Parts: sequence; structure tokens; C-alpha cells
Amino acid sequence: MKYVTRFAPSPSGFLHAGHAYSASMAYKYAMESGGRFILRMEDIDQTRCTPEFEDAIYEDLSWIGLKWEEPVRRQSDHFEDYAAVLEKLYDRGLVYPCFCTRKEIAAEVAQSANAPHGPDGPLYPGTCRHLTDDERAERFERGDAYALRLNMEAALKEKGDQPLYFEELDKGVIEADPAKFGDVVLARKETPTSYHLAVVYDDALQGVSLVVRGQDLFEATHLHRLLQFLLEFPTPQYKHHGLVSDLKGRRLAKRDKAATLRHMREEGYSVDDVRKLIGFS
Ligand code: GLU
Repeated sequence: MKYVTRFAPSPSGFLHAGHAYSASMAYKYAMESGGRFILRMEDIDQTRCTPEFEDAIYEDLSWIGLKWEEPVRRQSDHFEDYAAVLEKLYDRGLVYPCFCTRKEIAAEVAQSANAPHGPDGPLYPGTCRHLTDDERAERFERGDAYALRLNMEAALKEKGDQPLYFEELDKGVIEADPAKFGDVVLARKETPTSYHLAVVYDDALQGVSLVVRGQDLFEATHLHRLLQFLLEFPTPQYKHHGLVSDLKGRRLAKRDKAATLRHMREEGYSVDDVRKLIGFS
């Protein structure tokens, strides 16, 4: 099997050893199988992503010896494509506008004794799900801020009784349970796509057949599987890897300057040192 894999960082900080591990693993699956390795910039959050961090990613990945296909897809260049997908879901009644502020949602959640929680926190209580067309039009007219949410109930209805599955490499087939995400946000007025929608769209568009990423994104795959079903996209295989720890066993975070590839290079680490640290020597 020739794998098409990708590494999809957000250029909102310097890459650290954990990123190097993830990218190296994706690269290895592609190269050893005679497949292809893709690099993609997930820069939908334009307030945090910068061209400087993007350039630093190219430099750091080159330093550790990775090569990727050109041109590199940059999500911010394709906002219109994601908006078009959302419009289709909207027309099918699978997406609705939600005008609640975060504060209003928190207050509503606090009021109910057993508010259900999903992987990303408390589930949206559904306040705006049943607004009438007139009410929605009025709020749009007023210029109110809004989020576009997936109508999970309607989406599950489209799915029907058929279970959805995805394959985790080395582990086997897992049944997707997207309901635990509730009415998840797929876009906001000022940000025309969420991570979930963009990643599913791009992986399909780019023909990614094996998604290699950290265990922290494992839960998201349950939702991604549903989006693939709704959009009639193929389902890649998945490999969610453990997260790299520093020498003291703490999970690496973007804020740990000492763990960035840049810092290591400046401190005189060789590529071999880095590869040894992440277990790819
Ligand atoms: N862009 C995501 C991140 O920086 C990774 C997305 C993915 O691998 O699915 O964490």
C-alpha cells in the first residue's frame, strides 16, 4: 500500500520536538511505502498565524531532512471553498446559525444540573437550533455575530442506522461516535471554517490516505468520520501517535521554548541529536 501522508501544522509558533516526531513519522510511512508526503499550512486562525512562522516551519523541517511536494496548500487561500461546502450543508438543513455569546452559553450550561460534556467541553444546549427563518433573518440583518453549528440530530438522521467506522493502524476498526460532539461549531462569522471542516475537506481533496497525528486529536476523528459521510468523502486510515515528552516526562507544549527545533539548532544540537531525541535515528 502506497501511503499519501501529510503533516499539517499551524504556523502560530515554532515547531518543537513533538512536531518533528509527528512529521517524521508521516514522512516515514510515505517514503517506506513508495507513497507521497504532503505539507499543509493550517492557518485559518489569522490572528495567530504569521508568514514568519510559516517560513520557520519550512526551515526547520528542511533542517531535519524532510522534503515535501510543492506548492504547499495554505488553508487561508481557500476560505471560499470551505464556505461553499458550508453553504451546501446549510441548504440541506445540517447547519444552522447560532447567535449565542460564549457567556450566554456558559450561563445556560451552568443552570442545568446534568449538562452533557463532550471532548471539547460542555455541549451546546441548542438554544438557537429552533429559531424561525424570520428570527434568523432579523439577526443577520442586525449584523449580529454568529457561529455556524452542525445540527447533530439532523446529521445522525441522514446517517440512519448504518454505523460509521474508521481504521486505526495497528489497532483495528473503531466505530465512530460523533454524537458526543453535539452541535459543534463549523465556522464563525469572521472565520469561514473550523479546523474540523477544513481538515476533512483538505485531506479528501489532497488524496491523503493515512492521517498521522497526535493522540490529542483522536477524539476529533469520531466527528471527522461523520463529516466524511455527509460530504461523501473517502475515509483515510489513521495513526494517532503518543505525544513526545521532554526529558522530565512532561508533555511538550508550544510554549516550551527549550523544546523548539529552532532553539535546539541555536544551542548547537545536531540533526542526529534531534532524531535521537524523537526516536528516529
Ligand atoms: N493543524 C493541527 C495542529 O496544528 C493538526 C491537524 C491534523 O493533523 O489533523 O495541531
